Amino acid sequence: MRATARALMSAEDLRRQATAIRKRNLRLIHDAGAGHTGGDLSAADILTVLYFGGVLRVDPANPRAPDRDRFFLSKGHSSGLLYTTLALAGFFPEAELGTYMQPLSRLSGHPSTCVPGVEANTGALGHGLPIATGAGLAAKLDGAAPGAGRWRAFVLTGDGELQEGSNWEAALIAAQQRLDALVLIIDRNRIQMMDRTERIAGLEPLGDKWRAFGWAVREVDGHDHAALLDVFSQVPFEPGRPNCVIANTRKGRGVSFIEDSTGWHHRVPTDAELAAALAELEAEG
Ligand SMILES: [Mg+2]
Repeated sequence: MRATARALMSAEDLRRQATAIRKRNLRLIHDAGAGHTGGDLSAADILTVLYFGGVLRVDPANPRAPDRDRFFLSKGHSSGLLYTTLALAGFFPEAELGTYMQPLSRLSGHPSTCVPGVEANTGALGHGLPIATGAGLAAKLDGAAPGAGRWRAFVLTGDGELQEGSNWEAALIAAQQRLDALVLIIDRNRIQMMDRTERIAGLEPLGDKWRAFGWAVREVDGHDHAALLDVFSQVPFEPGRPNCVIANTRKGRGVSFIEDSTGWHHRVPTDAELAAALAELEAEG
């Protein structure tokens, strides 16, 4: 039996957990004076559901267990969100978050395998899906071995990074190899850096593109915990096909003056902005 980071939480518990992650994440960025505010808040609900909703079969006490699910954060610039989530899930002490981006800290600006729970060094965009595809192939081979456990490989990409050609090379291979233990989650907030994806190099019709590459596709509200749980419970969507979840999100979700803004890719909140943001989140409970 594979352990999960937490026992299954109620919908209300998940909502509170997501808010706690957002608040701690904002303080992390503010205190470090660096980070990616918009992208972190965009994906906070997805990571909440993965780590606290019982989706990922991982154990903070045994983060290298051979049959664990693997999670890869391809949008590695959201390391602050990943570290915050891992700390609150028990992979390392929360107090260490205070070292984020400081000299000699292992909590660097992009994920490092020095940190318990981090599966790969990521952040060079377009690399996470190829890595996860290799892991998905390993999962398939493990599952094919008599008596072996079967685990899954999850990867979260940004939407802007889908413009990297390496993603589509991996998409071909994953379908060819029938990697139905591979789950791609796209943080579809429609913003990259300082502009809209569809103004830079449009991705639509995005679902049709993945279906054309042989993937099974689901679209979901990436801030709806129940909907996310429901989608992840259906993996594999179709036997023999890799899974693509297009999670429709809003960059900066949860803070009114950050949400859906092209100005908060890597802007750091001032003292006053942090206080205002925390007050908004506090009002949510
Ligand atoms: Mg984006």
